[in-house]
Amino acid sequence: MCDDFIIISGPCSAESEEQVFLTASALKTFMNISYFRAGVWKPRTRPGYFEGVGEIGVKWLSKVQNELGIPVVTEVATPHHVEIILKYEIKNCWIGARTVANPFSVQEIVDAAKGSYLNVFIKNPIYPDIDLWTGAIERFMKFGVGNVAAIHRGFYPYQKTHLRNVPHWEIPIELARRFPDLKIICDPSHIAGDRRFIADICQKAIDLNMCGIMVETHYKPEIACSDKNQQLTPEEFSEIFKSLIFRQKSSADFDYKSNLANLREKIDVIDFQLIDMLEHRFKIVDEIGFLKKKHNVKILQIDRWKSMVESRLKYVNNDKISRDFLLKLLQIIHKESIKRQNEIINGENNLD
Ligand code: PEP
Ligand code: MN
Repeated sequence: MCDDFIIISGPCSAESEEQVFLTASALKTFMNISYFRAGVWKPRTRPGYFEGVGEIGVKWLSKVQNELGIPVVTEVATPHHVEIILKYEIKNCWIGARTVANPFSVQEIVDAAKGSYLNVFIKNPIYPDIDLWTGAIERFMKFGVGNVAAIHRGFYPYQKTHLRNVPHWEIPIELARRFPDLKIICDPSHIAGDRRFIADICQKAIDLNMCGIMVETHYKPEIACSDKNQQLTPEEFSEIFKSLIFRQKSSADFDYKSNLANLREKIDVIDFQLIDMLEHRFKIVDEIGFLKKKHNVKILQIDRWKSMVESRLKYVNNDKISRDFLLKLLQIIHKESIKRQNEIINGENNLD
């Protein structure tokens, strides 16, 4: 559930006291942010890159908090990091994508944070595994730290696209379904990896009802020690923010409500028809499975699968249903069909 829209902004990394203060003061001049961010311990995929300034950066952040009156947030990855930020009276942290992927590390941080009322923002793990994300959230919720929120920063791209990470919007949507009260914030900077795409991703996050955005800013992005291509100046970010459209969550308009109710009723009918038809289809798939078993025939008939895909893709009107979507749907159905036939032919071993 979102109340006020949360804006988290600041550099990828704290680099010097001057850089931290110049960025934070510019943000304060141009907009009203909820938290100033800066990483002081930077998880780098390979050694030899800038790994953050460490504890001294926490000191600068606590100065920002005290002198500019902006709450600050930084990444923690070990119990020692938690100890240090608490020593400087910093009450907000995020858990990075690499750390969330390791339940042992998450549990160690939970143990260190227990009873501290630390507010924790939990990024999604690098790989699109919603259960790992859910697990980390549950670990923090269970041990009663402060508020727990989630940050969607996209997922490792198996194929190169214009974005650094694949958004997989269906995953934060599923997270929202699992935790209706959890605040989910989008991190367009790490999804984009390139400042040119940040505005569009911010808009999409707002349209998908996310509760806030985390956007990296630097007073001089071209000299940034990490993630320089995706950082904006505070002024650029404030311009983007002003251009975003906040549509209403719903409308009390009678015409809207009655049309929506009508259309939703139609969707409900069609969905139940789809389920009935799938049930019917899988019954036939099972019959084929028994037939193959009886005649000792292999499950996968690649020629048949090839011609099925071709005929369906030829049949579909690409303007109405994209071929790309249809192919994915056929693959999901085919995978389930193979699984069922494997169970019929080989018993319980499944091929998942
Ligand atoms: C960051 O926010 O600077 C960061 C390192 O994020 P992530 O864990 O999402 O890569
Ligand atoms: Mn970064």
